[in-house]
Amino acid sequence: MNSFKKFLQRIGLYALELCWPRNCPVCGRSGDRENRHICSACFAKLEWIESGSCCKICETPIATHVDHEFVCSSCVASKPHYDFLRSSLIYSYPIDYVIQMFKYEGSVFFTEELSEILEGTVKAKFPYEEIDLIIPVPLHKNRILKRGYNQSELLATALSHRLNRAVDTVSFIRKADTPQQARLSHEERSENVKGAFKVVRPEYIRARTILLIDDVTTSGATLNECAKVLKQAGASKVWCLTLAKVRD
Ligand SMILES: [Zn+2]
Ligand SMILES: [Zn+2]
Repeated sequence: MNSFKKFLQRIGLYALELCWPRNCPVCGRSGDRENRHICSACFAKLEWIESGSCCKICETPIATHVDHEFVCSSCVASKPHYDFLRSSLIYSYPIDYVIQMFKYEGSVFFTEELSEILEGTVKAKFPYEEIDLIIPVPLHKNRILKRGYNQSELLATALSHRLNRAVDTVSFIRKADTPQQARLSHEERSENVKGAFKVVRPEYIRARTILLIDDVTTSGATLNECAKVLKQAGASKVWCLTLAKVRD
């Protein structure tokens, strides 16, 4: 009942947002970008991650320009299970503030413009015609009951409409209600998510090229564990995309 009430509240808020022009939720100035909430001044402050010289697997930037394909020392020491990981933005103001509102404060009206940012990154950095399936990093059902929604699922679903690709929010689940990664060190993060995920419908995963979506990359431990489990279930490729990456 509680989650149904939250659902109704969200629908109400969303309807209100659609019909009522409003101020930019970040700075409070009146909105000046059609059908978007983040105003042009705030949008101009976003720090985009350009596809320049970086590790071809994890996108860690390198100081000097190289022409050859470069793999960073941490990916050499321990090769990630995902094929590659890309992000749209650096996790800095104002996207950090927007993501906090989107994730924890029910501001689901950001879904469309955040998925628009992801769409741009997919088209710039991925051979996206090859994507078979878009899958969000799942939340445990207890967390969904508490929060009312999975922010990564909202992004993945909106992105799937934009790219005209299937989204699967059922075949891959989080079976363990692990503590939130935000409070843990890098080593603790890997341990914390070990064994937390499960493929429940391997026939939908096998031989697919999967685009895995999450909101923020910190250590990459969650995405790596998800990729491991998806590959074990027979996924042919796992590409990861997040909206923002914590600065290296
Ligand atoms: Zn603004
Ligand atoms: Zn790397």
